[in-house]
This record gives sequence, structure tokens and C-alpha cells, in this order.
Amino acid sequence: MDRIDVFSAARSGAAWRGRLALSAMPRLCASLTDGPGDRDVLLNYECRGLTDAQGRPALELQLDATLPLRCDRCSSKLALTLDAQRTFYFVNTQAELAAIPIDDTPEEALLGSSHFDLAGLIEDEVILQLPISPRHTDCIPIAGNATVLQGSGAVPADAHEPPHPFAGLAALREQLQAPEPSVAKAPSGKTKPQNGAISVKTPRKSRFRDS
Ligand SMILES: [Zn+2]
Repeated sequence: MDRIDVFSAARSGAAWRGRLALSAMPRLCASLTDGPGDRDVLLNYECRGLTDAQGRPALELQLDATLPLRCDRCSSKLALTLDAQRTFYFVNTQAELAAIPIDDTPEEALLGSSHFDLAGLIEDEVILQLPISPRHTDCIPIAGNATVLQGSGAVPADAHEPPHPFAGLAALREQLQAPEPSVAKAPSGKTKPQNGAISVKTPRKSRFRDS
């Protein structure tokens, strides 16, 4: 994918749409299954330059894909439906970016460029949407897996499932292994989704026009 001039795109309202194979996103692939055809899955993207309500150069990004993950509980395949929309705005210098306070606004500041790595931003966004511990919502754990370390051997059918003793370690490992974003970003209050999600959807504040 060619690099884009985000400032020019914001002024002209330029729009792009296309498809990226998951195999083109190596950092993302580290979190996906690698069965036959898994990496051939296509991610649909749409983006549009604009000037936001505060007069800043900005970019709307829409992502749709079905990602092949592995369930942390039963180890079988899990298809994560990703339907995400984000808006970013651009600043001119690293110093401006560093001066932006952490807040909970949905728009995220990025360091703008005349040769901005849109593919890198798309990959970063998909990685940020991945659950820390992917699990089927109706998953039945493999027999014995969660109970051996409790020493009971079996759990009554009506018992609440005990928390996995190493669940916190798994989450910590995920955080430590998370790839570094390739695009410079200001800190934001965004947190990763918690366990159990098989679908990720962020609110769409506006639809892209056809281009
Ligand atoms: Zn499962």
C-alpha cells in the first residue's frame, strides 16, 4: 500500500478503500492461527481525510474482518468479527504530540506526515482490538484442565468455575509480548477489551461515502 499525505488528504477529503490480506500484517499474524487459508483472509478498510470540528486535519478509518484466533479455554478455533471505526487527528511535530494530555476522548492524536504509513496504522488498530484472552462465549473447557491445580479432581455441575490460578500471568504475558505500535501515538485512556468477547464493534459516528 502506498504511503499517503494525511495533510493533503484532510484538505481534499480524499478517500481510500481496499482489502489487505492478513499475511501482509506480520505483527498481527503472531496472534492469529496459521491453519490452511487462515492468512489469506482479507480485511476490508475504508478511510477518508477530513477537517474535524476543531479544525484539525483528521482521518476516519473503518475496518471489517473475521480474524482466526484460538480460544484460550478449549484451544479450538475462534472467529472474531471485527467491525471497528476510529477517528484520528494529526499534529505536525513530536513535541506537539507529547504535549497532548491523556484523556478519554475517542479521537486519537497521531504524528502526521506527507508519507504516512496507512497500512501500519491499520495493523496497529486491528492488534488493539484483539481480546487479551480470546474465548468462545459458550465455551466448554477441556475436562480436567481448570480443576487439576485445585486438587479436587472434579467440580460439581452447579459449582461456579474457579478462577484460573494463572489467568493473571497469561494476561501479563500478553501485555509483555504485545507488538509495539509502528505509528507514533499520543497516550490515550483506551483499554483492551476483556475476556469473553468474540465480536468487537466500535460505534460508528458517521458512514463513509462511496468513492
Ligand atoms: Zn472455546
